[in-house]
Amino acid sequence: MPRAFITGITGQDGQHLAEFLHTQGYDIYGMVKGQNNPRMTVVREEFPYVEPVPGDLADLPSLVKALEQTQPDEVYNLGAISFVALSFNQAELTANITGLGVLRMLEAVRMVGGATNNPIRFYQASSSEMFGKVRETPQTERTPFHPRSPYGCAKVFGHDIVVNYRESYDLFACSGILFNHEGPRRGLEFVTRKVTNAVARIKLGLQQELVLGNLDSKRDWGYAGDYVKAMWLMLQQDQPDDYVVATGETHSIEELVTLAFAEAGIDDWQRYVRQDPKFFRPAEVDLLIGDPSKAREKLGWKPEVDFPSLVKMMVEHDLRIESAKIR
Ligand code: NAP
Repeated sequence: MPRAFITGITGQDGQHLAEFLHTQGYDIYGMVKGQNNPRMTVVREEFPYVEPVPGDLADLPSLVKALEQTQPDEVYNLGAISFVALSFNQAELTANITGLGVLRMLEAVRMVGGATNNPIRFYQASSSEMFGKVRETPQTERTPFHPRSPYGCAKVFGHDIVVNYRESYDLFACSGILFNHEGPRRGLEFVTRKVTNAVARIKLGLQQELVLGNLDSKRDWGYAGDYVKAMWLMLQQDQPDDYVVATGETHSIEELVTLAFAEAGIDDWQRYVRQDPKFFRPAEVDLLIGDPSKAREKLGWKPEVDFPSLVKMMVEHDLRIESAKIR
């Protein structure tokens, strides 16, 4: 059986990826940070086939030990401080985990290596936030980076160091430049889930208002379950490379809000939504739209779930879990 090692197993993508790799017959090892990580309860319950392995992206020896112990064929580095707003407040931590963490993981891969005829293949979770103040639209693998947050800056370092290690040490290392992807497992701090969860709570009379930042911000939003397949496909190719993974469509926060409230049967969403400058970013990114042509042509990848279906899936999920809480 092929063996996969995933950092960020307690996050949205780690869970989707574990679910997908399980269907492909993998042995799956998930790196868990901390001595009693509260988010592991969900992983243990929903993904009993994932074997937890201790480790932290701030601690190189723990990464080396984890790879020595698990001897993976494929490493997926999804662990990061991933919330842009937090990165403005904890910029040094973000640089250390989201940026330098990639370097440490690559060093661990280089040290442990894997069998000579089957070297470890490495996937890095790069981000559309690297494009920030965009130089062209839509963005491709060749679009220059201009990050607009400490998170984006850390991701640029992570991306560049992957390219550098691939060229310097001949590692099979790929980066997926993923545009926003969401789903019911998205953290409540992210705007899509914040909206769908608030809509469910408002519908059930548990919450009175939803406070948001800039309603005009636009994003290229896809479904996380589709995006993890692109990660896997990258590591199945003959040559390592970098790919933009996106839908090629863009939608505003206002569209998201309108669709989410309508899904819950509420048409006058303006009654419940208030804008607060506190939630505006110090530096906003421009219009992010990805051009996924290369992923489509070389990986045969395309998104399956469209934006309205994604919003519907998330609202239905949040209505279910919020109703269960009051039963
Ligand atoms: P997420 O839900 O926020 O998960 C982040 C994961 O990183 C969590 O499992 C977290 O573990 C782990 N982590 C944090 N600090 C760590 C450390 N010091 N050592 C090891 N692990 C650590 O993020 P996601 O949405 O699944 O995204 C996965 C990756 O893709 C991230 O790198 C993200 O930046 C990138 N990305 C995401 C998107 C998107 O739209 N979702 C788009 C582009 C790129 P704890 O639970 O222990 O904190």
